[in-house]
Amino acid sequence: MRRVTATDWTALLAADTRHVWHPYGPIPAAVPPRPVVGARGVRLELDGGRELIDGMSSWWCAIHGYRHPVLDAAVTGQLGRMAHVMFGGLTHEPGIRLAQRLVELSPAGLEHVFLCDSGSVSIEVAIKMALQFQRAAGRPGRTRLLSLRGGYHGDTFGAMALCDPVGGMHQLFTGVLPAHVFADRPPRGVDAPVDEAYLAHIDALVARHAHELAAVVVEPVLQGAGGMHPYAPAYLRRLRELCDEHGLLLLADEIATGFGRTGALFGCDHAGIAPDILTVGKALTGGYMTLAAALCTTRVAEGISGGEGGALMHGPTFMANPLACATALASLDLLERPAREGGTEWRRAVPAIETALRDGLAPARELPGVADVRVLGAVGVVQLDHPVDVAAATAAAIAQGVWLRPFRDLVYTMPPYVCEPYDVDRIAAGVVAAAAAG
Ligand SMILES: *Cc1c(COP(=O)(O)O)cnc(C)c1O
Repeated sequence: MRRVTATDWTALLAADTRHVWHPYGPIPAAVPPRPVVGARGVRLELDGGRELIDGMSSWWCAIHGYRHPVLDAAVTGQLGRMAHVMFGGLTHEPGIRLAQRLVELSPAGLEHVFLCDSGSVSIEVAIKMALQFQRAAGRPGRTRLLSLRGGYHGDTFGAMALCDPVGGMHQLFTGVLPAHVFADRPPRGVDAPVDEAYLAHIDALVARHAHELAAVVVEPVLQGAGGMHPYAPAYLRRLRELCDEHGLLLLADEIATGFGRTGALFGCDHAGIAPDILTVGKALTGGYMTLAAALCTTRVAEGISGGEGGALMHGPTFMANPLACATALASLDLLERPAREGGTEWRRAVPAIETALRDGLAPARELPGVADVRVLGAVGVVQLDHPVDVAAATAAAIAQGVWLRPFRDLVYTMPPYVCEPYDVDRIAAGVVAAAAAG
């Protein structure tokens, strides 16, 4: 096999700059990306052999780290049976077992699972579920959604319309995106005292728009890509009550918060509530490949199936991809398995990371230009009082041996759950250095 040499990288990177789109990037790229040649455990290996601890878990997905023997075996085992078959008219064991597992793990009442390709697609499916449900219930006028300012729900058109109306991409697509109803962002802080004025705000907004609303859409307890903004579970409980009172569905987007990231298995668990529709993605396959799901209650499923069309109108080509489903099953098994049996044991791992991040990020409070430092579960955030100089911040983290990808005014980490204490300390040092430099 031909080895890619250092000189090849010069040519490859030139081709990358010339031909390849990167996330939210221009052509040609403003800052060339860094080549990665491998990854193992919690470390990325760069061209030239340099290793970086991945403080991002590859955008919050690689919770068990890279090249995990159990996940590798799940992929190769499934590969020996079949990589993919269509899901229309056919079914398979990994798809069925994964659906069963998600029903068991998720909040009570979510019984039916739509397996799809990516987080954004699961949001599209979830929106369709809500609209089809309301139509079937004889309320075809309920076509708008209520979302929270500061939210992020994906990049496809239906999902984009739910993202923050100012920080999102609404301006670019004015006239194309449906105009939804936005509530103010809840006050910051999971433990912050409940703000009666905010409760009154959502009460009034839901009451005013209920006749045209199909659902309320939230990222439970932590708004992610819209600003790494934690908020109190009490507001979720009130939204649950309001939905029941006004005949709306509650749609919980747990694509970022699911599988233990915030210190509970699902963000909804902090509030002790169950939504009518729930989406998962990101960490579902432990970061191995793309897969997401939209779950719903029997009431929603029966409503849709008894309505016009008699079916949920969605069916992607790669629905329930067997390789991805087999990997997700292995990932969910690792998540709960005790560490002494080779598992990740999120219930121990996440609180340990939380404690280490609290200690490790504390020095950032003393830095000039730092507005806030916050930790929730395995999420650590340093918010600056100015936009991050991404190039300078990234370089400072790399000098500490850590990979970070800051955005807007935020330097943050979502470490793999399998980080050793040493790794978390290094990551925290990287975040502090990046905040100081950025
Ligand atoms: C990442 C994310 C999405 C979109 O998922 P993709 O797989 O990138 O399409 C949706 N909602 C939330 C909360 C997310 O964090």
